[in-house]
Amino acid sequence: MNPLRALILAAAGNNGIRRLVGTAPVSRDVVRRFVAGESTSEAVTATSALVADGLTVTLDYLGEDTTDRELAEVTVQSYLELLDQLHSAGLSGSAEVSVKLSAVGQALDERLALDNASRICAAAEQCGTTVTLDMEDHTTTDSTLRVLGELRRSWPWVGAVLQAYLRRTLDDCRELAGAGSRVRLCKGAYKEPESVAYQAPHEVDLSYVRCANTLLQGDGYPMFATHDPRLVGIIDERARWHDRKPGTYEYQMLYGIRPEEQLRLAQAGETVRVYIPYGQEWYGYLMRRLAERPANTAFFLRALASK
Ligand code: FAD
Repeated sequence: MNPLRALILAAAGNNGIRRLVGTAPVSRDVVRRFVAGESTSEAVTATSALVADGLTVTLDYLGEDTTDRELAEVTVQSYLELLDQLHSAGLSGSAEVSVKLSAVGQALDERLALDNASRICAAAEQCGTTVTLDMEDHTTTDSTLRVLGELRRSWPWVGAVLQAYLRRTLDDCRELAGAGSRVRLCKGAYKEPESVAYQAPHEVDLSYVRCANTLLQGDGYPMFATHDPRLVGIIDERARWHDRKPGTYEYQMLYGIRPEEQLRLAQAGETVRVYIPYGQEWYGYLMRRLAERPANTAFFLRALASK
């Protein structure tokens, strides 16, 4: 792994740095580039603006690694409030939610996470929208896929995320490429050991293309989460090869990253979903984004230094 990336991912777990960044007012402005706000209403406002531009949305209430039942409950309530507000604003046809099982109690008890995620799925169903389970570090993959399997018994539209950097992922794509499935394919954002994950960027890219082919060949609904222009081009070409029409798969990108490309793809008739994170616990999310791209880090440090 690139040393700068490793350093930033280490800072993601450092509480001292978290406090410094979280209280500096300028850094809060910078955070706004990647995070829609701290409140539900700010998240709904950001959704509304993107939907008006022809984009679709998935929203992530930021919070991870909860080992506290009450905090898990706060997360569930936040999603229920969000779904309610999206529905009232007439946005639930264009906006779904993304849920991290660790934020609803997975580390405490898988059953609790399943119950909590079920409540969110039931509310999403009422509002006429869907839920995708985010994927976290590799120690949680089996548990997350087990919970996915349980949820899909009642709500077959629950989406999964598979990470191309994991060596196991091609097999998981084969498992999940069937009719009715929704699979988001991403490169993967966590620091993983070589034993389970490809380390070289070109190996991750090759794995991404193999997995994309498998998903496009299948009967499910693939969701290609990447900002990588090369991969977007390859998916465009592969989709045609597999005779996939726009609307039978989608592109996904993060809020604030390559917004012009998001609009370009949407204007070309593709379905594009923007992943909007919001909430007070934005630090870990922001650090993963900075680790992905040195230019983002330079932008962030310049803004900090200028105050
Ligand atoms: P990268 O290798 O980071 O970037 C490739 C190229 O994209 C760059 O060379 C550049 O040309 C372009 N690019 C990237 N960033 C920028 C930028 N800021 N401005 C301009 N060009 C840029 N990871 C998980 O582990 N679990 C998840 O559940 C998960 N969910 C995700 C959901 C969505 C919708 C998205 C988009 C990503 C998600 N990720 C998740 C993160 C993902 O795994 C990657 O870490 C992240 O998307 C960066 O990978 P990339 O494919 O964009 O390629």
